[in-house]
Parts: sequence; structure tokens; C-alpha cells
Amino acid sequence: MTSIQNIRIGLGIDSHRIEAGGPLILGGLHLDLYPMHFVGHSDADVLLHAITDAVLTAAGLPDIGELFPNNLVENKGRDSAEMLALAMTAFRKKGFQLLQVECVVELERPKISSHKEEMRRRIAAIVDIDPDIVHIKGKTGEGIGEIGTGQLARATCIVLAERVSKT
Ligand SMILES: [Zn+2]
Repeated sequence: MTSIQNIRIGLGIDSHRIEAGGPLILGGLHLDLYPMHFVGHSDADVLLHAITDAVLTAAGLPDIGELFPNNLVENKGRDSAEMLALAMTAFRKKGFQLLQVECVVELERPKISSHKEEMRRRIAAIVDIDPDIVHIKGKTGEGIGEIGTGQLARATCIVLAERVSKT
């Protein structure tokens, strides 16, 4: 039975600059339609990075920057899906399971609404959970600020986790 003492939340926030030229990698999908990409040492998937940090935080593990330093050659261009899968392995090793994954992507364009379903299924597959407990919302910056003017993308993720076994 779920006991409130075993419930944890984890928060992850990430942002990346946007530059011209594809492909756009977001939520584990390669969106070749759009002539833009996120700038970063890894593949810069801002949404997967936020989820990874949320999962790690919930389990009291070191954050994504400590686990996958951006000065290591092995992390250059690294597939963020692989980093999230590794974070999930560490999370489960500590006896946790995911109950809910809530994400917000702030991006002026493209609108992510037409990709949200595929993104949910992809994320659920990477972390090996039911897609029904993964929710993604898209927001724009209303044309103002770094997000609104298309210079920056930001993702926020909160996970609800339960400790199901002591390790
Ligand atoms: Zn990142």
C-alpha cells in the first residue's frame, strides 16, 4: 500500500539556446521538419534533460551536470535518451518507481501540439512506464523575452515518485 512517507517529488528545469539549422531534437524525437536546433554539448534535448534532472532529484541522486559533465568528450553529442535511461536505472536501483511525469515546454515555435502524442509515447518507452502517466504541455513566450523571440527553449518537469523498496 502506498504510504505518504514513501512519496517523493522531483523538479527539473533546463534551457538551451536556439540556432538556425536542423535537426530539432525534442522529447526524444528528431523533428526534421524544422530548420533550427538547440545548442549544447550533448544533443541538447531540453525536455529529456528536465525529465532526467527531475528523476534524479526525486531519488536524491546527483544531478545531470554531475553525472554527465559537459567537459567530457564521451558526452559530446550524446543521445539524451541514453542519459535518461541511465538515470532511470539509478532511480530504480534506489527502490523508486514513477507515478506521474508532468512537463511544460516553453518554445515560441514550432508549436509542439502536433508532436505531443508521439513525444509522450517516446518518453514512456525510454523510461519504461505507461504513457498515461506522462503529460506534456506546450507554452509560447507571447513574443516577449528570450523565449518569445525564439532565442531560447525551456523545459520544466515535475515527477511524482514512490519508494517501493529500501536498498
Ligand atoms: Zn540541457
